[in-house]
Amino acid sequence: MHIVVTGGAGFIGSHLCEALLAGGHQVTAVDNFLTGNRANVQHLLRHPAFRLIEHDIVQPLHPPALMGEGTGPVDAVFHLASPASPADFSRMPLEIAIINSQGTHNVLEWARHYNARFLLASTSEAYGDPLVHPQPEEYRGNVNTTGPRACYDEGKRFAEALTSVYVREFGLDARIVRIFNTYGPRMNPDDGRSVPNFITQALRGEPLTVYGDGSQTRSYCYIDDMVSGLMAVMFAPPDTRGMVFNVGNPDERRILEFAHIIRELCGSSSEIKFCPALQDDPARRCPDITRISNMLGWQPRVPLREGLIRTINWFKTIV
Ligand code: NAD
Ligand code: UDP
Repeated sequence: MHIVVTGGAGFIGSHLCEALLAGGHQVTAVDNFLTGNRANVQHLLRHPAFRLIEHDIVQPLHPPALMGEGTGPVDAVFHLASPASPADFSRMPLEIAIINSQGTHNVLEWARHYNARFLLASTSEAYGDPLVHPQPEEYRGNVNTTGPRACYDEGKRFAEALTSVYVREFGLDARIVRIFNTYGPRMNPDDGRSVPNFITQALRGEPLTVYGDGSQTRSYCYIDDMVSGLMAVMFAPPDTRGMVFNVGNPDERRILEFAHIIRELCGSSSEIKFCPALQDDPARRCPDITRISNMLGWQPRVPLREGLIRTINWFKTIV
């Protein structure tokens, strides 16, 4: 298959490109390096089945430009291009809102042009600060539509709505994945998320910055599990067309406990520093993965400590 991955030079996208190439597919990554990095795919550029197109998805792109020498028409589009770190929500809110609305519209048009399968990388942030726990796909969420996270939360919710319009109006063979917190090698050490912050702080002997009292929870999924979940949904049977799937690891931890585990695994004696809580920071988050495990047989396999050791070993090579 010829598969397009928007955001292919990002953290999740670069691992996905690797897995697709290993599966024998032709892969075209589309990225403008807004939050990603050419270095993430440098090793793939030598691969004969890999192409990288530097392009901002907000700008129009004539679909034939996605085809290269030797590649056929596009068979499937994984749409991952979007900043994802809460720190980005204040750094570039307008870009995030436009990328997820106008950008998603453009990418949906590529898929429609080729009658290709389409997968939208949505987010657990679609549930906002959830009042239902754990969160099943049917839960409609509790989002502050005007708060500092709204550019992303509502941007992704609009992207879900737009994708659903393409399913109903044009019969697009699309699915939506709500990705829960994912971690692993190639996370941007400077993007402000908890995993890169805590690991770099612990390795440098700096204080680990816990926002609020650290009683808020997250459920962290290792990158290899996330990639297998994305592929399971993209290549799911036809009767799942238009469906939403949570993908994540339900191993829920308090952030303070999580900081302690990272400090211990780094062999660090850094202190824990409590900092002001972020506005609208979700208090609890944990995926209900009943749907994907029952319908597609997918389960996360990598335990938290094992995934963290692999991640820390990678961070040691760059910090
Ligand atoms: P990332 O920032 O590493 O990757 C995003 C990629 O998209 C980057 O390479 C970036 O340069 C690219 N991009 C951004 N705007 C673009 C544009 N206008 N045109 C072309 N490329 C553009 O983030 P990630 O963690 O790999 O996230 C990938 C996707 O998964 C995002 O859509 C994100 O919302 C979603 N997601 C991630 C998580 C997580 O825990 N990592 C959780 C929920 C949802
Ligand atoms: N967090 C923290 N210290 C940091 C970065 C994040 O305590 O240096 C907290 C943040 O407030 C949130 C949780 O860790 O409650 C997860 O944050 P992250 O940015 O990783 O992802 P989010 O789930 O908020 O998108």
